[in-house]
Amino acid sequence: MVSLLVRTFQTIGQTIGKFSLIATISTGLIAGDALAQQAGPTPGSAKAIFGAVTLPTQGPTQSIGFYAKGCLAGAVALPTDGPTWQAMRLSRNRRWGRPDMIGLLERLSRDAAKHDGWPGLLVGDISQPRGGPMFNGHASHQIGLDADVWLTPMPPHKLTVAERETLPFTSMLAKDKFLTINDRVWTPAHARLLMRAASYPEVERIFVNPAIKKKMCDTWTGDRSNLGKLRPEYGHDSHFHIRIRCPAGSVGCTPQAPVAAGDGCDKTLAWWLGPEPWAKPKPDTKPPAKPREIMVSDLPRACQAVVAAPPVASVRAATYGATGIGASAETETMPISGNTPPGQIPQQ
Ligand SMILES: [Zn+2]
Repeated sequence: MVSLLVRTFQTIGQTIGKFSLIATISTGLIAGDALAQQAGPTPGSAKAIFGAVTLPTQGPTQSIGFYAKGCLAGAVALPTDGPTWQAMRLSRNRRWGRPDMIGLLERLSRDAAKHDGWPGLLVGDISQPRGGPMFNGHASHQIGLDADVWLTPMPPHKLTVAERETLPFTSMLAKDKFLTINDRVWTPAHARLLMRAASYPEVERIFVNPAIKKKMCDTWTGDRSNLGKLRPEYGHDSHFHIRIRCPAGSVGCTPQAPVAAGDGCDKTLAWWLGPEPWAKPKPDTKPPAKPREIMVSDLPRACQAVVAAPPVASVRAATYGATGIGASAETETMPISGNTPPGQIPQQ
């Protein structure tokens, strides 16, 4: 598992090296996670097969494999709209996850609206209907336990389908400075939202841009015991990525090692803020060999059955909350203390 992680990071590093420094840092990548973007999946590959499936399997939810190598049975969909969230980029059909993940997003949206001055969540990619690798945007998000949330607050109106496709991302980074937060877009409510997300015990990691991590290290005055869950990563300057642990009793879900103790405002962050992660390869270095396409047979064996299994009757039949899936009960949560009290934040 560690070696898988190391390989993933090496791949990300190699990919990033191809882009110019400023472009990489200031624009982020459209769907978030920093991986090679390609025009379309190679026919027959796991990306093509999982990307073409439109409905989840019937039956109980099962996360199979690891965040970056696996699939998902019995997924449920985040409803496109709720009182405190809206799902974005609906054409991508990636609002599927474990009920645990979907329930957590809804809870975060309610808690943030009630306590943190964050009016609602714009939710990006979660997983495909049966999880698996995606042809663009992400290395992980394969087993229904990862979700991207925009760092843009939900506007006060219901977005049209077209607006959800085209609303631009807003980077939290200053355009012309190296890894520096733009204080004209970053607000204390952003900080509270991140710490709210980190406060849930099932949330194991939250990926943010290194500049965001630094900002949190420098400015968060509340309880710092969950600050270590915020992990610096490439991209993630216009959205953050929530990863929850394998739920108890989920056989077949491969856990990730817990984050190290401490707030992470240490030499691991200093490395991200130095030149090494952003260095271009030397001109005489041979470009890295293109990694072989992942096939369904490369995934855990059970994923072959997931691909072949019969679908649910409809999206609605598998939408969280719509047919009694998932609890709709509100859970009371105490305010998070720290920084300034909730206030209005600018709409972008
Ligand atoms: Zn993500």
